[in-house]
Amino acid sequence: MHVPFLDLKNQPAELRSEIQSAMNQVLAECNFILGKPVAEFEEAFAAYCGCKYGIGVASGLDALKLILRAMDTGPGDEVITVSHTFIATALAISSVGATPVLVEVDPATYTMDPAAFEAAITARTKAVMPVHLYGQTADMGPILEIARRHGLKVIEDACQSHGARCNGHRAGSLGDAAAFSFYPGKNLGAYGDGGAVTTSDAVLAERIRAMRNYGSIRKYYHDTLGENSRLDTLQAAVLGVKLKVLDAGNAARRAAAARYTAQLAGVGDLITPAARKGSEHVFHLYVIQTGRRDDLQRYLLEQGVECLIHYPVPVHLQKAYASNDWKAVNFSLTEKLAGQILSLPIFPGITEEQIKYVCNSIKAFCGN
Ligand SMILES: *Cc1c(COP(=O)(O)O)cnc(C)c1O
Repeated sequence: MHVPFLDLKNQPAELRSEIQSAMNQVLAECNFILGKPVAEFEEAFAAYCGCKYGIGVASGLDALKLILRAMDTGPGDEVITVSHTFIATALAISSVGATPVLVEVDPATYTMDPAAFEAAITARTKAVMPVHLYGQTADMGPILEIARRHGLKVIEDACQSHGARCNGHRAGSLGDAAAFSFYPGKNLGAYGDGGAVTTSDAVLAERIRAMRNYGSIRKYYHDTLGENSRLDTLQAAVLGVKLKVLDAGNAARRAAAARYTAQLAGVGDLITPAARKGSEHVFHLYVIQTGRRDDLQRYLLEQGVECLIHYPVPVHLQKAYASNDWKAVNFSLTEKLAGQILSLPIFPGITEEQIKYVCNSIKAFCGN
């Protein structure tokens, strides 16, 4: 059997044709830049997240960057985030000239350790950027409390957690602003690059809306030094259709994750994903830990099971950051995780048989 890591081709015919007609509509109207589907999707996505405003941008990285710029974050400012994340989180901070300050994660949930965050605060700290990694929100209760006490802005990196909830509230509505990515493999994915900012802050929303469009609200009048980072109309049309099936896709991911967890209980030294109390995990990724990770990955590949590592090199060990001095923090937890984590195949259309095959292969490897 072959079990792909992710299968984007396996889309219900009805959904595919609805997407195609939405795209055809854009082709017919030729409203390629900031056409009506962009505003419609922005409104629908903001409402979905429980926010007042949504602003479509070109990517998740740009969403993070634009939030930082709109909050006047730049040289001399520190932004606290985690080392155990995709590089884009840190790159956004570096690209506005601010300094990323990296901290450890909680090893059970892979999200920011609130105590490590508090310990890293200095007089220069401007914001905290918790990452809702793998589909689970960070521990936002304590993170928000600490941030408010120190007067810090809270920027959610929600690029992996469309639809996840923390104490009943959706990712994207938990901090001052949030960044989403619609990279095709995300839980809500476009047919190319795309991203969005969500916020309930009217002033911030207005600044970002101008900034993503050359700093202009009125054509050829430029109030700020903007950039070109607009969500494509074609992508917005795709996303408008796909948003309607996001909850169903997330429910399918949760069901698949529950099957994995039930079948992998007590197998070898495996640690299966933990959900924090009050959190609704949407399993962008299903990540296990094992001390024999490299051998298990090789074995599974031989069995036709594709699995990946998210991420093999923490941000503080990336060559791009080789000139930074990270010595102030001990990253032993993050480094240990990077050697033990393995992401198993998960996507809405994964079948019971495929999950069973993956689990049986893992059991055979572990001698269970
Ligand atoms: C995907 C991702 C991003 C970046 O999104 P792009 O749309 O690829 O720019 C940022 N942060 C995290 C955690 C991500 O997973």
